[in-house]
Amino acid sequence: MSHKILVVEDSRAFRNYLFNQLSQLGYEVICAESLAETQAILSQDHRFFCTVLDYCLPDAQDGEVIDLVLSTKQKVVVLTATFNEKVRERCIAKGVLDYILKDSMSSVSYLIPMMKRLLNNQNHHALVVDDSQTVRRYVSQLLEHQYIRTTTAVDGLDALKKLQQHKDISIIITDHDMPHQDGIEMIREIRQSISKNELAILGVSSSDDKTMTARFLKAGANDFLNKPFNQEEFYCRVHQLLDIKEANTELFRLANQDALTGLWNRRYFFNQRQEHQADNCHVAMMDIDHFKKVNDTWGHDGGDKVLTSIAHILNLYFSDSIVARFGGEEFCIQFCGEFAQFIQRLENLRQRIEKTSISFLDSSIRVTISIGVAQSDTGDINQLLTLADSRLYLAKNRGRNQLISD
Ligand code: GH3
Ligand code: MG
Ligand code: MG
Repeated sequence: MSHKILVVEDSRAFRNYLFNQLSQLGYEVICAESLAETQAILSQDHRFFCTVLDYCLPDAQDGEVIDLVLSTKQKVVVLTATFNEKVRERCIAKGVLDYILKDSMSSVSYLIPMMKRLLNNQNHHALVVDDSQTVRRYVSQLLEHQYIRTTTAVDGLDALKKLQQHKDISIIITDHDMPHQDGIEMIREIRQSISKNELAILGVSSSDDKTMTARFLKAGANDFLNKPFNQEEFYCRVHQLLDIKEANTELFRLANQDALTGLWNRRYFFNQRQEHQADNCHVAMMDIDHFKKVNDTWGHDGGDKVLTSIAHILNLYFSDSIVARFGGEEFCIQFCGEFAQFIQRLENLRQRIEKTSISFLDSSIRVTISIGVAQSDTGDINQLLTLADSRLYLAKNRGRNQLISD
């Protein structure tokens, strides 16, 4: 679906402001200033990712534009200059996504993050856990209305199964009282292997038990909401959880990825290695030959271009392995599988790099790499790395551009 957004607003200043802000988020913004113009636009183009509508327009002073747009099954966010509880309730009941008070330009500081959230929501998958079909349907519908994909489960056990099946689930919304396994037990089980940063859980319950909130939070829920809940509060909580989840993912990336090449860094390599202590995982250390000369000849930018090009080739040849930049022009690959196959693929890689011309400005740069390899049965990860490293330096001493594995 295209990310077209329709903004209907009669104030030119506000319309232009929204146009600029929403364009910056990557939306294609179509603007209208009246009901008549909106009608004309809708008659040609029905597919908008979302619409932002001013409640009061010169030719439609009582929210008529909302009915018009809703009748074409579009998602609607209402902007209004004056707060009116009745109007607000009527709008929510009609199925608008949100109702925002336009009391100053600063109200945009709520609207813009919300529009950004809608775009990001497309990357999320929610698991809705409740034994009541009505609740499952209602919650799923709320989430899907905001572009969050959903899967449902009827109790804790079913949820654990669905979680196994759909590895991309990023948030769970769960009830407490359910047959077979209740929400709190389910959360405890999930938290043994998946942290709060990796998977957000929102507990929801209509229980009178005053200790319910604390019990949910202590079991590992990220947040809790009493049932029945207000739609706006539900959205605010879910948005907040997804905002935090995305910030955590970004922090993890920043801490574990090499900024220049996009490869994993040394920290990721070691953490990952501890988690997956497989038996048949071998290690290769490699280093670009005479890289200092590349910098001396083509400058630091030329050197950087070589590093990113080599990283690209490493990823191409070892997309199934952990490829890390250990520092400078030194890389490490952890490969799990048959040792002979690893050696063959490394040798292919060495030859490919030898034959590659890396274009930089008007020239082309050629480099070679030296590789030291250690087989899984020669020790623990530190011993493997030390061995691979010593073989790498043997390869350098024997004339570079070669692989040594014994
Ligand atoms: P050898 O064949 O023995 O490995 O020689 P070499 O010149 O490749 O090795 P040396 O360790 O002497 O030089 C590595 C150079 O890599 C020195 C350093 O300035 C440069 N370097 C380290 N990190 C970066 C980087 O991120 N970008 C660029 N352009 N150069 C880097
Ligand atoms: Mg080098
Ligand atoms: Mg070096």
